[in-house]
Amino acid sequence: MTKYVFVTGGVVSGLGKGITASSIALLLKSRGYKVFMQKFDPYFNVDPGTMNPIQHGEVFVTYDGCETDLDLGHYERFIDEELNYSSNITNGKIYKSVIEKERHGDYLGATVQLVPHITNEIKNKIYEAGTSSSADIVITEIGGTVGDIEAETFIESIRQVQYELGSENTFFVHCTLVPFIFGSDELKTKPTQNSVKDLRNKGIQPNAIVCRTPFETSKLIKEKLSLFCSVPEANIIDSVDVNNIYQIPINYHKQHFDEIILKQFGLPLKKANLKYWEDLITTVDNLKEELEISLVGKYVELHDAYISVGEALKHAGYKINKKIKINWVDSESLEKESVNLKDIFKNSKGILVPGGFGSRGIEGKIKAINYARVNKIPFLGICLGMQLAVIEFARNVCKLEDANSTEFNPLCKNPIIDLMADQKSIINMGGTLRLGNYECTITKNTLAYKDYNQDIILERHRHRYEFNNNYKDILEKFGMIFSGVNTKANLIEIIELANHPHFIACQFHPEFKSRPTKPHPLFLSFIEAANKLK
Ligand code: GLN
Repeated sequence: MTKYVFVTGGVVSGLGKGITASSIALLLKSRGYKVFMQKFDPYFNVDPGTMNPIQHGEVFVTYDGCETDLDLGHYERFIDEELNYSSNITNGKIYKSVIEKERHGDYLGATVQLVPHITNEIKNKIYEAGTSSSADIVITEIGGTVGDIEAETFIESIRQVQYELGSENTFFVHCTLVPFIFGSDELKTKPTQNSVKDLRNKGIQPNAIVCRTPFETSKLIKEKLSLFCSVPEANIIDSVDVNNIYQIPINYHKQHFDEIILKQFGLPLKKANLKYWEDLITTVDNLKEELEISLVGKYVELHDAYISVGEALKHAGYKINKKIKINWVDSESLEKESVNLKDIFKNSKGILVPGGFGSRGIEGKIKAINYARVNKIPFLGICLGMQLAVIEFARNVCKLEDANSTEFNPLCKNPIIDLMADQKSIINMGGTLRLGNYECTITKNTLAYKDYNQDIILERHRHRYEFNNNYKDILEKFGMIFSGVNTKANLIEIIELANHPHFIACQFHPEFKSRPTKPHPLFLSFIEAANKLK
């Protein structure tokens, strides 16, 4: 029978609830248990796919094509398991499904209500995560903060799950803040007491409290929290601020967090294998030399919009013992006549153009790609980055002057990036991109083949426009190499250039598959090339 750990948050948002959930999952996995993770988000968008990155940060994509919250990226990077459609449930998804069932007549005769119809739908998603993954333990994070109106039905549903499965099969972790107040010069427990009170008002007694704190809490504080919150002292876990987030699972392990959970579940305490993770921490803590990479995007003031790309760069850096410094370049700022690209890229050993939508900043990105190509600076283009690399080459090398994507100029004479026939009739914006895993066949004797050393790869996608095959011959004639193709639909997946030390771009998103202990081959070879640049 699957066991469930529920992670809630109180006091403030941004406490690192997602990292706590991932750390618990990592520790349980390290003891030989099969884990699965899930996040409930209180908003009414069906998925974050239609939200502006300024609102929501990156949209993470699972292998089966679910557009999800960026926390799922942390989950996958920590536990190195592929998550799926059952992993990110929003209020929008729940309500949509209940209303569709009502229209279909599934509740015929009943008055459809929050309890039991919405809560049953939520519980089904929780149980489904267990059955579809056949995990021993599912770790479910409830987004938002206890007390938020939007999250009430999630809280009520997990209360019901405990009632149905019993306390030997459920474990509640509540994350709170224990702030240090200058002047009174002590750590304060009141916000935690109040937050636990809120949770208990809703019928949930936490089994453990994770205290986010600037430094270790004293025995006195633990005694106080224990008494006021009815949580055993040993189950009050410190989450001390750290510079290196990979330290957190180890900090929890030292406080026996995994042991406490397994004991409640009545599961054997198999030995924890954490050596590989400790090695990672040592590597990260000892990085000295920096390697600068320019990331050219339109949301550079908000690093969360490119979080997986940033992480993937760092992971590749770990492998060669380099600390990656990202030079965040606003693509729109490159469009000014007066801009001095040499100045902007002077310390960068590589240029990366990530994915994106819409026409703002496009010409600036094309200028950056041109700079990388002409000056032989290692280049990695991702999704939109590949489309623009092709446009740049068509315009400046093949002299197809108004080469463009029909996303930005539907009437251009040379639509080198265009919609596929089956995308043209789509009117709904949500969930209709080409999403998730598609195969790509790699041509031998190419940079891509050297990187992957595999004939067929699977990578995750999130885009609507494609390379227009009518232009393949002319681009090839001028030296572009089409090194990866989806042979089923005849779609270009990877391009590269001869006569350049390292110029490669892909239609998919390799960043989603990079792990701190297993860098992605395209990122690794890019960083290695950057490291070689004089
Ligand atoms: N806007 C482009 C498309 O829809 C690229 C998308 C992306 O970079 N994720 O095809």
